[in-house]
Amino acid sequence: MAKLPVGDELIFRVAIPVPVYRLFDYLAPVDVELDNIKPGVRLEVPFGKGKKIAFLLEIAGHSELDASKLKRVVRILDHKPLLSTKDLRLLDWASNYYHHPLGEVISAAFPAGLRQGKSVVVQTEKHYALTDLGKVTDSARLQRTPKQKSVLEKFQGCPSCLSEAELSAWNDNWRPTVKQLIARQFLQIELSDARVNSPAALVRNNALQCNPQQQSAIDAVCAGLGRFGVFLLEGVTGSGKTEVYLQIIRTVLERGQQVLILVPEITLTPQLEDRFRQRFAVSIALSHSKLTDKQRQTAWLQMQQNECSIMLGTRSALFTPLKNPGLIILDEEHDASFKQQEGFRFSARDIAVVRGKLLHIPVLLGSATPSLESLHNVDKQRYQLLHLPDRAGNATEPVLQLLDIRNKRMLEGLSESLVEEMHLTLAKNEQVLLFLNRRGFAPTLICHGCGWVARCQRCDANLVIHFDEERLRCHHCGKEQRLMSQCPACKTGELTPLGLGTERVEKVLAELFEDKVSVRLDRDSTQRKGSLENYLRLINQGKVDIILGTQMLAKGHHFPNVTLVAILDVDSGLFSIDFHAPEKLAQMIVQVSGRAGRAEKTGKVIMQTRKPEHPLLTTLIQQGYRSFAKTALAERKEALLPPFSYQALLRVQAADIDAPQFFFQAVTALVQELNTGHTQVLGPVSAPMARRAGHYRYQLLFQTTRRQELHVLLDAIIPEIAKLKQAKKVRWSLDVDPADLY
Ligand code: ADP
Ligand code: ZN
Ligand code: ZN
Repeated sequence: MAKLPVGDELIFRVAIPVPVYRLFDYLAPVDVELDNIKPGVRLEVPFGKGKKIAFLLEIAGHSELDASKLKRVVRILDHKPLLSTKDLRLLDWASNYYHHPLGEVISAAFPAGLRQGKSVVVQTEKHYALTDLGKVTDSARLQRTPKQKSVLEKFQGCPSCLSEAELSAWNDNWRPTVKQLIARQFLQIELSDARVNSPAALVRNNALQCNPQQQSAIDAVCAGLGRFGVFLLEGVTGSGKTEVYLQIIRTVLERGQQVLILVPEITLTPQLEDRFRQRFAVSIALSHSKLTDKQRQTAWLQMQQNECSIMLGTRSALFTPLKNPGLIILDEEHDASFKQQEGFRFSARDIAVVRGKLLHIPVLLGSATPSLESLHNVDKQRYQLLHLPDRAGNATEPVLQLLDIRNKRMLEGLSESLVEEMHLTLAKNEQVLLFLNRRGFAPTLICHGCGWVARCQRCDANLVIHFDEERLRCHHCGKEQRLMSQCPACKTGELTPLGLGTERVEKVLAELFEDKVSVRLDRDSTQRKGSLENYLRLINQGKVDIILGTQMLAKGHHFPNVTLVAILDVDSGLFSIDFHAPEKLAQMIVQVSGRAGRAEKTGKVIMQTRKPEHPLLTTLIQQGYRSFAKTALAERKEALLPPFSYQALLRVQAADIDAPQFFFQAVTALVQELNTGHTQVLGPVSAPMARRAGHYRYQLLFQTTRRQELHVLLDAIIPEIAKLKQAKKVRWSLDVDPADLY
């Protein structure tokens, strides 16, 4: 684009990360050669009383607005856009689909520093490698300096070199020791990563011999490289899905392309990262919430500039730019954490599929318990199913059984038959895993004298007893208070804990199994950095007999010596009003069961229930997850629920009890004016938890069997809602394809 004569100003049309559904026009900066300025570059612009970072979308010849009123761009931050045209198109699509302001969507694609306008400096990380002396030195010689010995052994067990990030991931305190080893000439500093882009050295030769099912899954995906396609790898827990990923990734790397792997929560599954590091001799970029902003920015830029070929990350890593994309993998695709539940509410799985289509690359979704949506997409022949029906190696699948506990004597949630089974297992020196999805001591504190219950003053919820800390805590708003010893209502009655939490079970385990070691794994017990890793290590070293925990246990861990799994309270999942609940419960049961009998020993899974005839439980046990899913999909079809219809949920909350009502009156008027009649509008109704953290909560559900109609309505209505004066008095949000109705 040539520079126009003076007087004819060029207009920069930009997106700004603010909750406004439109773009903004600015005058082009003066004295800047505009020829090379492309959409996607970051700019600094005056906004309100301050300045904001904006993203250039278009350079236009004129503005609808009065040019004399327009302000001027302050400066241009990038020489070249950091996001490709295709990625900008993806973000534009996402902004339209989720009806979320484009500026905020683009902003979400960047790591925090770049979002705030930091300039792009790629920190070339230092790498360290063994010297020739280091290579031949027997580590036993360093017996008297154990730290140095362990670092030397780490290097000797590794490919050519290690980066600062890799060393930090291994041990927080590596620097002084590495320095000493450099002084002793066992190690040296290297300024670049010798491993980058040298395919010959990509893979260490420790791949497993695949079984025929694994091989055909690998072949199918590899044959699909270089074009779009979605594969659903359905494999029972322990069937070798990860091995399939690793071997496909190898092929992608050999083609000189990059791989993006998304997992639910890396910090919960450190073993996965280890497996990648053991297999690939290239450096691996990580992106998750436990890293610093700087580390995440470095990882993002390394992928953007093709200095790294593999990224392992959580949901927010989805938008990482790929210079040379080859494949996107989503492991545990059914997992709820792929859905962002606040701000820009998106499904990483669904956007990954759209991204694959734009980039002309395959997307591989994997799970032992695929989501009903993905199975439906297989039925519709949109996704190709790859099936691993058996466990890999010699491992066998666990046997599931229901334990009817009606009228049975219970010891803090454990039936006598379960305790007996536990003794039998422990006597064989095998491990037991107990699952209870409720942390704390007990979910309710009630007065035996007058019936008073400890409630949160800010939520419609009971306070949970945390006995060890002597506190009552609200699990919804975090408010807490001291555990009282006297009933505040009648002053005389005895306060009694009602119900079961992990802390309570832990106490009874200590009494019943005095000579055994148990650990409790939940959010409370693993808060300190490194404590989860530490517990996992003890478990795998066989120093723990009983593992007790919450859903944290359901995620991808390998406990080869666990042969008995018990789900203490399966019934609590059976009574939710949300139509997603059965699916989630079935997935949870199968995932927890999958922790049993991973090695040669067959495992057993016991579910304590008072509803032994419940069809969900019997179908799951007698016929397996696939039959359950088939039945559940048939029920959804009958009721015209997703994926046979499309939903969007408008949530509203306010501290003022009347404000939501006024808001909805205005919204209803808009709906009447703009709805063409094909979208059902249900509500407004109180949210299932009507008050939370002092806010009154309501919701309005849009539902239709014609997706296009829903989006036409939302396109028309959402920008209008944003302009309502009643909207200023409430907090509102739109959730397209809501994963739960809370
Ligand atoms: P998933 O990801 O499906 O749970 P993994 O890939 O973690 O399964 O494999 C489960 C276990 O089986 C691992 O210990 C893995 O090393 C082993 N395994 C995987 N594939 C094979 C194979 N072809 N032969 C022998 N063992 C295998
Ligand atoms: Zn609360
Ligand atoms: Zn009382």
